[in-house]
Amino acid sequence: QTLDKGLEKSKTNFFSKLSKAVAGKSKVDDDVLDDLEEILITSDVGVKTTIKIIERIENRVAKEKYLGTDELNQILREEIAGLLSETNVGEATDFDIPKDKKPYVLMVVGVNGVGKTTTIGKLAYQLKNKGLNVVLGAADTFRAAAIDQLQVWADRVDVPIVKQEMGSDPASVAFDTLQSGVNQNADVIIIDTAGRLHNKINLMNELTKVKRVMQKVIGDAPHDVLLVLDGSTGQNAFEQAKQFTAATEVTSLAVTKLDGTAKGGVVIGISDQFKIPVKYIGVGEGIEDLQVFNKYEFVDSFFK
Ligand code: GDP
Repeated sequence: QTLDKGLEKSKTNFFSKLSKAVAGKSKVDDDVLDDLEEILITSDVGVKTTIKIIERIENRVAKEKYLGTDELNQILREEIAGLLSETNVGEATDFDIPKDKKPYVLMVVGVNGVGKTTTIGKLAYQLKNKGLNVVLGAADTFRAAAIDQLQVWADRVDVPIVKQEMGSDPASVAFDTLQSGVNQNADVIIIDTAGRLHNKINLMNELTKVKRVMQKVIGDAPHDVLLVLDGSTGQNAFEQAKQFTAATEVTSLAVTKLDGTAKGGVVIGISDQFKIPVKYIGVGEGIEDLQVFNKYEFVDSFFK
């Protein structure tokens, strides 16, 4: 039900446009397909993914000869779910982390302002509620505010945080956090890093160093590199995904602020283009407003 609330704007936008596109038409023809293409692109699905979806529908039109507009919803739903299942894990229905890694180290990257700290706080809250020991590391040391905000979340969720002063070496904070996590018998360590998108080489060097130093404490850390993207920024989100994936191996995505945008299609486009699973979506500012991304629920709530 939170998901429905969070996607309300996207749904309204999508369906009002879709129903206008098919108004007065009984079959899916070139005009309908043109309109659909525009609707998908303006919902931030992205050009490449949109073309893929349109081609699939064209193929079905060609095969089935006659495709009624009243079937379009159902077909779109099937094709989008199909697309997500090719590229996206998205089967999870609950907050969970693999049990075979302890502590499980999650490194979180993303540009300032996208909701990185909030996502870490919400995730820590969910994992703690599952009885897991969570430790946070404030390795985004570039801005004092980033450290302070993470501290606010650590207090709110009541989990330990490891930090140093502003300007200290992010790798050093990460090292301390992992050591502290091991000593405290933590189940999950969440490291907040790299809020800056300076030039690509710097970003790459910084993230590589943080990883290398972490591995002095836990040989195969980090176990997951989560990139946080602001879903309301459309093409910027695509651009950031491009830059971060070029700088480091990103293994999962969180897409935030879907409640504030009518363009929830960004989730479909990004997971398709980057072949990285969306694990979490942010649907509000509150502590409970983080959802595990489940492709079936997502498609269902979009087409309900
Ligand atoms: P950071 O700089 O990336 O760490 O960003 P913050 O976590 O500080 O978030 C920036 C702003 O976005 C804050 O005002 C958050 O409350 C807000 N925010 C984060 N996630 C969401 C979300 O899913 N929905 C909405 N509406 N706001 C969000």
